[in-house]
Amino acid sequence: MTQKVVVVGAGPVGSLAALYAAVRGFEVEVYELRSDLRDPNTTPLNFSKSINLALSERGIHSLRKTGLSDLADAVLAGTIPMHGRMIHTRKNGDYVRQPQLYDARGRSLLAMDRTGLNKTLLDHLEAMPNVKLIFNHKLVGVDFRKKIAWFEHRTKSIEEQGDEFEIEFDLMIGADGAHSAVRYHLMKFVPMSFQQEYIDKLWCQFHVPPAPNGDFRIPPNYLHIWPQDESMFIALPNLDKTFTSTLFLTRSGFEELDASGKVVEYFEQKFPGVVPDLVPEDELRKQYTSNQHLPLISIKCTPYHYGDSGVILGDAAHAMVPFYGQGMNAGLEDVRVLFDFIDQYPNDRSTALTKYTEERTPDAQTINDLALGNYREMASDVKKPLYLLRKWIEEQ
Ligand code: FAD
Repeated sequence: MTQKVVVVGAGPVGSLAALYAAVRGFEVEVYELRSDLRDPNTTPLNFSKSINLALSERGIHSLRKTGLSDLADAVLAGTIPMHGRMIHTRKNGDYVRQPQLYDARGRSLLAMDRTGLNKTLLDHLEAMPNVKLIFNHKLVGVDFRKKIAWFEHRTKSIEEQGDEFEIEFDLMIGADGAHSAVRYHLMKFVPMSFQQEYIDKLWCQFHVPPAPNGDFRIPPNYLHIWPQDESMFIALPNLDKTFTSTLFLTRSGFEELDASGKVVEYFEQKFPGVVPDLVPEDELRKQYTSNQHLPLISIKCTPYHYGDSGVILGDAAHAMVPFYGQGMNAGLEDVRVLFDFIDQYPNDRSTALTKYTEERTPDAQTINDLALGNYREMASDVKKPLYLLRKWIEEQ
């Protein structure tokens, strides 16, 4: 009999996991708390505007391995290569831009809109006859032993409680993000080690419009960084000639700016070339006030599974801070690794899930640590690449 896979969360990781399961002929149901993000009235998760992010080989490889020939190309069509970083600093009082290439052989990171990627995945899911996409449904309970789960229908808003109903499943894949309900319920069935940390940095997003001539305001093929040690401003390009920028700053730094209101002055002092060239003064103040100042969480846990019936992936298993640009990429890689084991042990899913936890835990936890450590690289060390190169040569 066809096995039923229930995926909780239709973010990038859950959507890709559902595709992998559908391609293998499982009966797939995807439950998502929010409404369909392809609907223009849907508010994006946590963000005032959609965020863009860096897609790397780790993620691209997982898209290619789905088994759907056009998926990776459809995603890649919406990307912009970033050949390196562009560091914006002052030297002897002058504004200096310094490019630093990522790779001697010309390989690049790719900037892309997260919502765009998610939409492409959902479009492909919708085209599969064995997939049901069920939006506005919140997972509220799971019994992994009996393989039953309870969902609430959120009719009007994600806060408003609706009718609760029960479903059965053979395998539940939890891809419901950093505050995962699947993980919470999994903990009642397995002795899960769990660690979470909110770091002392918040982030706030800014929109950089195209130049008056319709072109990009700064060179597009870079991840732009204004490194200032305790704070950092970055900008990633979008296909519509805009940039999505992010200010990272300590909580107390944000509180001081809130109290003084001197946001423009702070930017002028710390981030040369931003005000007014990229964002006009009034717009900067407006966006600083209206866009949320959001926390950053790092989560480690293990094991990721229970028996043959439950497994968590993506941020649900290992939410990480964004400084290594690998949170989603690592989540997409989880999907490939999980289904490699499911393929290897077609009649023994319990072993497949055990192998998944064993292989994935050290890898994911290492990426979490690298991500935490990479703040220093981005906000400080990029200012002295020659010093670091000399140090590295001396150490060899
Ligand atoms: P999510 O995207 O969080 O999706 C989870 C889904 O589950 C949501 O749609 C949610 O509505 C749903 N859900 C939650 N609870 C329930 C429930 N009870 N029932 C049903 N559904 C539920 N990563 C990169 O790889 N590269 C980058 O450059 C990068 N930059 C980043 C920059 C910033 C500022 C931030 C904050 C993150 C960045 N990331 C980056 C990380 C990336 O955004 C996440 O790792 C990725 O979105 C995780 O995907 P996910 O599908 O696991 O979880």
